[in-house]
Amino acid sequence: MKKKSRRPIVAGNWKMNLLPSQVRPFGEELMALAAGFHRQEAVVCVPFVMLPAALKVFEGSDISVGAQNVSENPRGAFTGEVCADQLRDLGVKYVIIGHSERRTLFDEDDIRINTKVRLALDAGLHVIICVGETAEQRNMDVTFEVIMLQVKSALYGLDGDALKRVVFAYEPVWAIGTGVTATSDQAEEVCSFIRGVVRAKFGARVANGLRILYGGSVTPENADDFFLMPDIDGALIGGASLDPHKFFSILEESENNED
Ligand code: PEP
Repeated sequence: MKKKSRRPIVAGNWKMNLLPSQVRPFGEELMALAAGFHRQEAVVCVPFVMLPAALKVFEGSDISVGAQNVSENPRGAFTGEVCADQLRDLGVKYVIIGHSERRTLFDEDDIRINTKVRLALDAGLHVIICVGETAEQRNMDVTFEVIMLQVKSALYGLDGDALKRVVFAYEPVWAIGTGVTATSDQAEEVCSFIRGVVRAKFGARVANGLRILYGGSVTPENADDFFLMPDIDGALIGGASLDPHKFFSILEESENNED
């Protein structure tokens, strides 16, 4: 499958930034900029409390709404948690799972991440699974071992059909929020490796249809370098996604990622 048959996707991760009252002005500005951009998929992943406002402002538009986390439990006495069925019932389409901040700050290991992925997919959500090595792991030359473990564990127990709702984001931990990006060659090397791991487990058809993003200090200035690479189908963006103009510029760049 040619790259151009995979729909580019640019997802913004607001993390714990902005306020509920800022969702509407942000959304209106982004929609005004992005009117007419249909080929790329834009996703805005906001904090839980902002999901209703985001769903309302983007209703009827091409911009999808995502959450940044989901419970590893299906329902019940888990004070403060939000489960996959609740996200789906609200109308949320995507959820980010396994972001490095969740892995490092909230002790999410590969087993918990796999549980979340399975629950989210069972609920009908689409998932953006983040994988990436730390600087120490890259220096120790174990990047590919780390990525292989993260990818295989995240997908444990799934069938090829479920992968239609899976997007991977390769986010080297050392590039997140640091202003230091991977080179486009480094990012392509790992994204192509991820596709290879998926190919070995699920076959060429599934692997060729899988969308893989790069994330880590992507800006309007550097986005194009990544989008030109054959195995990179878009970006997961933190800091630059908080400004509708920067987010839109990156979305615009992703149009150029055709073979
Ligand atoms: C992220 O948090 O997923 C991310 C890539 O952040 P930033 O773009 O700010 O590096």
